[in-house]
Amino acid sequence: MADTNQPANLCGNSLNTLAYNGTTPVGVITGEGSDMSNSKAMKSKGKRKLISQTMALSLIDIAKRKEAPQQAKTYWNTYHCQNKITSHDGKLYGKYCKNRSCTLCLSIRKAEIINKYFPVIKEWQEPYLVTLTIKACSAKRLNYMFKGVLRGFSQIYAKCKKRNQRGNGIKLMGIKSLECNFNPVKRTYNPHLHLIVANKEMAELLIDEWLQKFTSKFATRKAQDYRRIYNIETALIETIKYGSKIFTEPDVNKEAENKGTAMIQAAALYNIFEAMKGLRIFDRFGFNLPKTHQKERKGARAVTGHSEWVFMAKYHDWLNIENELTLSGYIPDAKLAYMLKNYIDVQTE
Ligand SMILES: [Zn+2]
Repeated sequence: MADTNQPANLCGNSLNTLAYNGTTPVGVITGEGSDMSNSKAMKSKGKRKLISQTMALSLIDIAKRKEAPQQAKTYWNTYHCQNKITSHDGKLYGKYCKNRSCTLCLSIRKAEIINKYFPVIKEWQEPYLVTLTIKACSAKRLNYMFKGVLRGFSQIYAKCKKRNQRGNGIKLMGIKSLECNFNPVKRTYNPHLHLIVANKEMAELLIDEWLQKFTSKFATRKAQDYRRIYNIETALIETIKYGSKIFTEPDVNKEAENKGTAMIQAAALYNIFEAMKGLRIFDRFGFNLPKTHQKERKGARAVTGHSEWVFMAKYHDWLNIENELTLSGYIPDAKLAYMLKNYIDVQTE
């Protein structure tokens, strides 16, 4: 049954009804804008905004507790990301914070990567998904371990490249993404790399070299993994989770969720973001992307016949400032709403 306290949604209404230009006849928009005609995409935007804003508040609390005003400021920027949106001619315009902690910005970054890499990777005959891990560590050592993982990979790549140039070894080719899981019971962090490589031989070579480099002190064979990819798109999405699972999908742990024990590990996430600062999380190796023409970014311009929307946490949606219509029509399911309210752990780290 419809919630009568919920403002009316834009979806299904003619855009003409939005063509108010009474009190603010001129608006300013910048960039290409994003399409607003797909109602499913609009609802996910609403969901991401709700998660992002709720998480930002938790991360701000943690930054305050750690007496880190600069970090708090960063998370406030995420909190405000896309708070105000201007719609014009079927497109949405707003300011992005571009922080790693922002699910709105992250989804754009991910889509960009998929669009860029999918056409290349789908041509590979026998792609493999590889996971390279090292021993779990404490929060304190996380930055050191991240750097060690990235440096270790670079050294392996350079060694194999040299060997290949001398004519005795294969050339490695793929994409890689740095990631980290948190174990709330042991309070440890698991830095690892997710990679997609062009064939099985490369996957096996990488694992052999990895074990040799990190030795049994830091890496065991059973903690490394490789498997054939049959669905490139799913594998790409899996690979570019970008940093940490805990953030992008609060419902990632299905088993724990079903048992009602799932938590969003905000304090751990805070440490992961801090430790990843300045590091290149996603990269390619052994191949180049085809050259594309960069579109020139459209600068600021004045428009009329636009609408302005402001995000209201209370309605988990953007409201039109003139007629109070909602923009996305997103209504959180009870489970997510409950989790965001009760299951964010700002202590365990
Ligand atoms: Zn953002």
